[in-house]
Amino acid sequence: MRNVVVTGGSRGLGLGIARTLADSGFQVVAVARNSSDGLAAAIADVAAGTQGALHFRPCDLADTASLPGLVKTLRAEFGPIYGLVNNAGIGTPGALATMKDRDIEALLRLNVLAPITLTKYVTRSMLAAGGGRIVNIASVVAATGYGGLAAYSASKAALVGFTRSLARELGPMGITVNAVAPGFVDTDMTHSLGPADRARIERRSALHRLPDVADVADMVAYLFSEKARNITGVTMTVDAGNTA
Ligand code: NAP
Repeated sequence: MRNVVVTGGSRGLGLGIARTLADSGFQVVAVARNSSDGLAAAIADVAAGTQGALHFRPCDLADTASLPGLVKTLRAEFGPIYGLVNNAGIGTPGALATMKDRDIEALLRLNVLAPITLTKYVTRSMLAAGGGRIVNIASVVAATGYGGLAAYSASKAALVGFTRSLARELGPMGITVNAVAPGFVDTDMTHSLGPADRARIERRSALHRLPDVADVADMVAYLFSEKARNITGVTMTVDAGNTA
């Protein structure tokens, strides 16, 4: 079975992505600071089935000095890493002028520095294995902007630029690098958005609804499939037509 690491795989989009990839036949390692009841249930479900495998390994990805050790441990335990989904992220909201410097730094550390550093070390494993897939979870706000999310938007735009250049760098080695840009999806991250804002986003979307976790997970699974072997360096938007 091919090994795939999904960061932030304990809840929300990451849990959906981890479960969907396991159901597609991959051996998935979900990484987050803590597991969750949802992840424990998914691990048990996958273990009872006939396809794929799902595991949890704890790590605070913001501690970037620990990332080489994490990759080394995962390689020793599971073997070469074929895929990486950089999904873990925080969305600390706030007007930039009043945001605490330490909150801006923490956001950029987890959303930008951690995925770039983790990718660096995982890529070495993919090069040894002769190919691989990388998917970075960006956001539609990287392109559209959203008041109160300037630092967050900057972090997601950084991932889009990272995706494009890394695709060029790793393409000759048989590694594809893509981004997925979800629109608003109901998860822990977005629960603070009020019903009026939520309804406004829904109204403004071409399909008059919001995408859900499964829509995003299915896009990632597609990018991991054989059908997507010639897709690299792009950002796939999953937003029910919110930015159409
Ligand atoms: P979520 O429900 O808040 O889940 C975040 C995940 O990241 C959890 O598994 C969390 O687990 C993990 N995480 C947070 N800090 C971590 C750390 N320091 N080290 C390791 N893991 C950490 O968020 P979500 O809505 O699923 O979002 C997932 C990704 O999609 C994010 O990158 C987000 O920016 C992006 N996105 C979300 C939306 C949306 O509407 N929901 C839209 C566009 C893009 P622990 O807390 O246990 O560590």
